[in-house]
Amino acid sequence: MKENTQTQNAPIRYSVITGKNPREIVMLRTSGCKWKRCRFCDYHFDSSPDENANYALNRQELEKVTGIYGKLEVINSGSFCDLDENTIRKIIEVCEDKKITQVHFECHWLYRDQVPAFRKRFQEKGIDLKIKIGVETFDHHMRQDIMRKGMPEDDPAVIGAIFNEACFLFGLTGQTKQSMERDIELGLAHFERICLNIMVENSTDMKPDEDVIRIFAQEIYPKYQDNPRVDILFHNTDFGVGGESND
Ligand code: SF4
Repeated sequence: MKENTQTQNAPIRYSVITGKNPREIVMLRTSGCKWKRCRFCDYHFDSSPDENANYALNRQELEKVTGIYGKLEVINSGSFCDLDENTIRKIIEVCEDKKITQVHFECHWLYRDQVPAFRKRFQEKGIDLKIKIGVETFDHHMRQDIMRKGMPEDDPAVIGAIFNEACFLFGLTGQTKQSMERDIELGLAHFERICLNIMVENSTDMKPDEDVIRIFAQEIYPKYQDNPRVDILFHNTDFGVGGESND
């Protein structure tokens, strides 16, 4: 659910986040995001129709998980529903082996009806799920017409009743200090945690607006940088995954 820049070498898929809400993170591969229309995103290229190859890759990354913090974040291009069944079973097995009791997954609005059953499946194993949605902004026109996010719901209370966490995308032409602060405050009011992604140059035609990013860096970032409920990614590899591996 995040924008990314496709890399030529194999991407790094496992990392440990030691800052706020410390957790391990894995970037797994799926058959691909079914939406694929977000204008700012080329992350959906990280996919393969070969389910066996995806599972082999995912198993290799999941075997790196140590359980050091008892928390794991799983990201992939799309939603948890795009992960193959063997990978989901492997995630549960790793959580049980490594005493992981909290897992974060991503999910597009399209799959909101699948969230309760997925939560229940993990809850039965003693694992609490934190489901993260890419809201990007509560500005309807910006989200739907410009970003093409495919999430018509505007009411943060309705979205927050289904999802635990929300991602926002800042640094686009048309966003202002006021619009970004409004998104953050609504996000904090309706979600347990929020993640602010700053737009970076990628292969799409959507470009970062340096003036908007400067406003964010100078006037908004100082206010939220120490908030434990706010992750801020100036670059989409700041969680340690997605960059190029030297392997
Ligand atoms: S939902 Fe949008 S942002 Fe997420 S992977 Fe699909 S196209 Fe990209």
